[in-house]
Amino acid sequence: MADYVNYNDLYEITSQYIKKEESQNLIRRAYDVANKLHDGQYRKSGEPYIIHPFQVACILATLHVGPATLVAGLLHDVVEDTSYTYEDVVRDFGKDIADMVDGVTKVGQLKFSSLEQKQAENHQHMLLAMGKDIRVIIVKLADRLHNIRTLGALPHEKQERIARETLEIYAPLAHKLGMFRIKAELEDTSLKYVDNAMYNKISNQIKNDSSVRIQNVDHTIDEIKKLLEPYNFENIQIKGRIKNIYSIYKKMVTQNKSFEDIYDVLAIRVIVDSIADCYQVLGIIHANYTPIPKRFKDYIAVPKPNMYQSLHTTVISNDGFTFEVQIRTFEMDKVAEYGVAAHWAYKENVEYSKEKEQFEIASKLKWYGELIKFSEEEEKPTESKDFVDTIKEDILQANVYVYTPTGEVIDLPKGATPLDFAYKIHTNLGNKTVGAIVNNHIVPLDYELKTGDIISIKTNKNSFGPSENWLNIAKTSHARHKIKSFLNKQNRDILIEEGKKNLDIEFKNNKISNYDLTDEFLEKFQKNNINSIDDLYLEIAKGNLSSKTVVSKYQGEDIRVVDEAISKQIEKNQKILTTNSDTGVVVEGLTSPQLKLGSCCNPIPGDPIVGYVTKGFGIVVHHINCTNLKNFQRERLIDVSWATNIDRKYPVSIKIYAKSNMNLLLDIMNTISANNMSILAINASSTPNLETIVKLKVMCPNSIELEKMIVNMKKIKYIYNIERDNL
Ligand code: MN
Repeated sequence: MADYVNYNDLYEITSQYIKKEESQNLIRRAYDVANKLHDGQYRKSGEPYIIHPFQVACILATLHVGPATLVAGLLHDVVEDTSYTYEDVVRDFGKDIADMVDGVTKVGQLKFSSLEQKQAENHQHMLLAMGKDIRVIIVKLADRLHNIRTLGALPHEKQERIARETLEIYAPLAHKLGMFRIKAELEDTSLKYVDNAMYNKISNQIKNDSSVRIQNVDHTIDEIKKLLEPYNFENIQIKGRIKNIYSIYKKMVTQNKSFEDIYDVLAIRVIVDSIADCYQVLGIIHANYTPIPKRFKDYIAVPKPNMYQSLHTTVISNDGFTFEVQIRTFEMDKVAEYGVAAHWAYKENVEYSKEKEQFEIASKLKWYGELIKFSEEEEKPTESKDFVDTIKEDILQANVYVYTPTGEVIDLPKGATPLDFAYKIHTNLGNKTVGAIVNNHIVPLDYELKTGDIISIKTNKNSFGPSENWLNIAKTSHARHKIKSFLNKQNRDILIEEGKKNLDIEFKNNKISNYDLTDEFLEKFQKNNINSIDDLYLEIAKGNLSSKTVVSKYQGEDIRVVDEAISKQIEKNQKILTTNSDTGVVVEGLTSPQLKLGSCCNPIPGDPIVGYVTKGFGIVVHHINCTNLKNFQRERLIDVSWATNIDRKYPVSIKIYAKSNMNLLLDIMNTISANNMSILAINASSTPNLETIVKLKVMCPNSIELEKMIVNMKKIKYIYNIERDNL
């Protein structure tokens, strides 16, 4: 065997925490298999290939992972790069390890149309595998860390691509897992390849920073040491801390600050034994320096979503210089550096259960639970790019932390609004949202949430649901996806309703009052891709199929004959209309009935209607849902229908519920005139809880136009709900 790598180097680390002989034998066996399989393969640097999996295993060992994860690290490239298959790994090392190796292995066999697509497919494969087993991503991060350390040997173009991919997906993953050490190294090394000039500039500035700042920090550390001395803390560590280069770079670029402006480049960290000690140290610091208001954060009581715990405070020194102090226990310090790896470090003699570990991690790391849920969701995006983008945007970049009224932390991406919050909690909550209250103030739905906000969502059972402009307000892919599917379904429902009305009218015009569309009949439309009665209505509403054709097929008649019948019918209706106070309503068998539209329910063309024969006023036409109908005598109800070619407008009453706003009435009136309607009456009243109810009577040609106008009206931000009055 080659002695390019010394197995003892790995053993030295693993033997510190893996004592069982059978575990050590397993690792040794995996090392030998990998060594043999990669024999004769070389890296771009010219070194034997085995160096790579070996170093990956060493990185994993410093994280104190268990034997199975170490074996997966040693074997992680064998399926991709050698003749050894997944089945071989199952046979020699078991399914558990084989699945980990498979999760890290790239999707190879498929042909990709582009590099982007290939990358997206691989990310999706990895994220899905990670949702099943967190150890996959630990191995992948160790793999990426060694690759980025040795990126120098690759051609420039490839270096930059790998560095960008690392910044986009692997560093955020490490961050979300609380693995600060690995995250910082991934970021800083990647920056070297992505923006070499800035990398050199910042690292030189850190090295050569001879400003008073460093002296001040050294001086202040001494000062604090003296301050704490009399309290006899048993174990205490005080050190200056240097931010990672990439986070300084990001602040300089995104906040457009100069290096000198970033005053927290240097900070002081105090590490003690217990939580009680942490608060005592905080008390001593605050008693001796002036704390800056609102800069104190208690991440011990409320940990960050990546499990980070610490007390943070920014104080002013006696020389008037500002610095940050972080106070934490040794245990917290380990979690702050190694995150999930420290929290779930391998424990010998405790039987390992993947299911138990997955469950524990999902309950500690909320986003990981979301990833698992999202991976299993049926409605998830089908394109791998959309899948990966959703995870990147909604989960990995979700670094704004807000609270529910019960104190639950919800993480959202920057720019997220109350709608994103509502949909993240539950789809039904999102769909019924009419307003939001943030920190006890009513805010518009497009309010940008900030870390620390406490949000409660105002809902209304009768809400018409999301409107088109919610797509401009929602920032997360998750919320947008849910809004889109609601709108698609709603549009479909409206169209089905419209198609049914069309067909009803056509049947009535042909003197068919009760029609029954059987499955057998629907078969005649199979070539139109119609498989259900809803499909039929839908195609009619879309204009792909005429209701005339349907009726003529129903009657078994030739279309031309029917056309003639229809034009005769229309002619007749027109005659009726001209002789009858133009209500637009037709009554079978009567050439000049005395007709009136009910002023209670104000029916308009397209509405389902019924006539009521009164004593003395002739026939009064009501909407079928009119609240007065239940008091009427059934035997006096008669069939009536709308004429097909009505050219007039009708009064219709609607009721609007809205958040009180100066521009409300103006916006409503603009919407009405933009929809070519005119106002007959308007009346607004306010309720004590800042709600306004507007009663509106407009002139409107038919129910389809009304529906369109209401869709537009719903785009007015502060409107919660709209309904037809008296129905
Ligand atoms: Mn590798």
